[in-house]
Amino acid sequence: MRVQTKFLENGQVAILYLCNPPVNSLSANLRQELFLALDSALENSSVQAIVVTGDGKFFCGGAEIREFNTPKSNQSPILRDVITRIEQASKPVVAAIRGTALGGGLELALGCHYRVASPDATFGLPEVKLGILPGAGGTQRLPRLIGVSKALDMITSGDTVDTAEAVRLGLVDSVFPNDLEQSAGAFALEKAAATDLTSRVLGARQAVAPTDPGIYDKARQQAQKRFRGCVAPLACIECVQAAVEQDIGQGLEFERERFLELVAGSQSKAQRHLFFAERTAQKLPDNWQPSRKIETVGIVGAGTMGGGIAMSLANAGVPVILVEREASALERGWNIIQKNYAATVASGKLSQDEMQARLARITRSLDIGMMAQADLVIEAAFEELGVKHQIFTQLDAVCKPSTILASNTSRLDIDAIAACTKRPDKVLGMHFFSPANVMRLLEVVRGKATEGSVFADVFRLARRIGKLPVLAGNCDGFVGNRMLSHYTREAHFLLEEGAQPQQVDGALQRFGMAMGPLRMTDMAGLDISWAFRKRMAPTRPKHLRYSRVADSLCEMGRFGQKTGSGFYRYEVGKRDPIPDPVVEALIERCAKEDGITRRQVVDEEIIQRTIYALVNEGAKILEEGIAARASDIDVIYVNGYGFPQFHGGPMFYADQVGLPEVLSTIRKFHAEHGEFWQPAPLLEQLVKEGRRFGDS
Ligand code: NAD
Repeated sequence: MRVQTKFLENGQVAILYLCNPPVNSLSANLRQELFLALDSALENSSVQAIVVTGDGKFFCGGAEIREFNTPKSNQSPILRDVITRIEQASKPVVAAIRGTALGGGLELALGCHYRVASPDATFGLPEVKLGILPGAGGTQRLPRLIGVSKALDMITSGDTVDTAEAVRLGLVDSVFPNDLEQSAGAFALEKAAATDLTSRVLGARQAVAPTDPGIYDKARQQAQKRFRGCVAPLACIECVQAAVEQDIGQGLEFERERFLELVAGSQSKAQRHLFFAERTAQKLPDNWQPSRKIETVGIVGAGTMGGGIAMSLANAGVPVILVEREASALERGWNIIQKNYAATVASGKLSQDEMQARLARITRSLDIGMMAQADLVIEAAFEELGVKHQIFTQLDAVCKPSTILASNTSRLDIDAIAACTKRPDKVLGMHFFSPANVMRLLEVVRGKATEGSVFADVFRLARRIGKLPVLAGNCDGFVGNRMLSHYTREAHFLLEEGAQPQQVDGALQRFGMAMGPLRMTDMAGLDISWAFRKRMAPTRPKHLRYSRVADSLCEMGRFGQKTGSGFYRYEVGKRDPIPDPVVEALIERCAKEDGITRRQVVDEEIIQRTIYALVNEGAKILEEGIAARASDIDVIYVNGYGFPQFHGGPMFYADQVGLPEVLSTIRKFHAEHGEFWQPAPLLEQLVKEGRRFGDS
């Protein structure tokens, strides 16, 4: 049974429980049973009022996403029919919300005559995050209930609000701290005696036009910042506008049409793929269970990364001990942390008191002996194996035997770092992304000896501080940076072959990347990868093509934004890249020296050369077990490297293009450009078997 009915108040109140664990999703079966249960309660002459509530911790998590694009999603009654039934009911229907009311769950509640909740409930319409919109009247009823401005905020952000906020918004009529069902039953009965129900039907009202007509444009601008290139938020805004300009019937029709377009479109398929991919990435083997409490975290190095990591932890209430090697560096790092928090306070997003509380959680020291108090230490010092060895040897000596030691290294060998400790089973990589207090992604890198419980502990902490941990194997650059090397290599080759920096960046930005590879390098600093290339020069196979463009820029002191020039030039205090004839001349010289005849390069080639370089390397990474699943790679690329979520990540994108076509283009590049394009055996195998990365 997906819906169970119980009676209260001598049979005068029917309580309908949604029972579809784990989140009481509105599957076809549940909708049908709910419809029947409503009918039977409405027909039952003893019943005066009806309460709809959720069994267990959830009210209702919304539509059954797995039924999308299957006949079940349109199986009658659809949610809109259930809501119409409620709105037409002659007895009051009250939604009693405990836990979460999300998506279709909240739309169902909006269809009820009243909404009551427990104090710890949450409410949201997260559809936009899945590339769709609330398609069961949410975009029409919410503006009618809480006003256009607040409705736009909720619908286009997909964010949830808590009970207190829901009361302020007028979303909830009453809050019951104890015994929600009983209280909701009494509330419903009271309303049965007192009220004319039509005034409670949201569909019978009209949404009030906003006083500021520019509100829709502002919402569009904001949505593009948050969901770059995505069409769903724009459709949400159109629907809210329709709620003001059209009657409920027309508005619902308009919403339904937009919903059906979105749900059938490629963007929402990609975004739904990512939704499941993020959840799947959290799954660790069953025998990897948490084994320690991580209460205090030590950080070594108060530089760019150490400071950001400290803020992430302090923001989530975790005490931090931040250790530096010298007072000036500690002072510098501390000043940056304070400045960052002060900027958040100035923007109104943080109170002065909360800033002080967060700062107070960060203890600063020059004594590594302080790490004796830490349950986990994250090293974020210079990217040199010698430095890491020295620090890990010291940490091993001063830390408790149970303490986990992590390195934030971008690409060094975790096993080589672990080897200088007596606890290689408690050593791993925690690769945060810059700015670490903002970026969600955390690559958790597995050493050969790291024990399972360590990952379980670190994943738990990561989620506590709002990060998205993804497991990666140990190799040069792990998953993300290893693939990135191939992507940037092709970008540099394309310059020599005839493209301009702005053409390469432009093509990839139009494809949807947050930033083109050359702008990104200018932002990160060319000196960092230069130092790495110089270090690796002795091991670089000399028969392979090598672009000298980036090295030559560095030799000219052009390290990117920080020096005012790199692949572009920058005006003082500005970040807008300006094409520079000096760079053009340099690229031509490099090409000439390497005997490359420059030609016209078209955007399509730029995209295929760079994105398929990611795909081919991703396939090798999968085959080597460096990533457990193709979808993990997608999660890493969308959340760490600005890959467009509407393409679902590089591996999902390749599946959509079709692996036979991707492979045939890679083979062509192999014939034209040689060894770098050796097709990944896994890709060849999948094509042979007619499979996709999503099936591997
Ligand atoms: P950074 O130069 O900004 O900071 C490093 C800090 O470590 C400096 O303040 C330095 O004084 C301190 N330090 C050096 N040796 C120390 C020691 N023995 N004890 C205590 N402190 C010491 O460097 P960063 O950009 O923060 O990078 C730190 C690490 O994070 C590197 O391994 C880097 O590869 C990795 N990483 C960097 C980024 C990035 O974008 N910057 C991204 C991911 C990972």
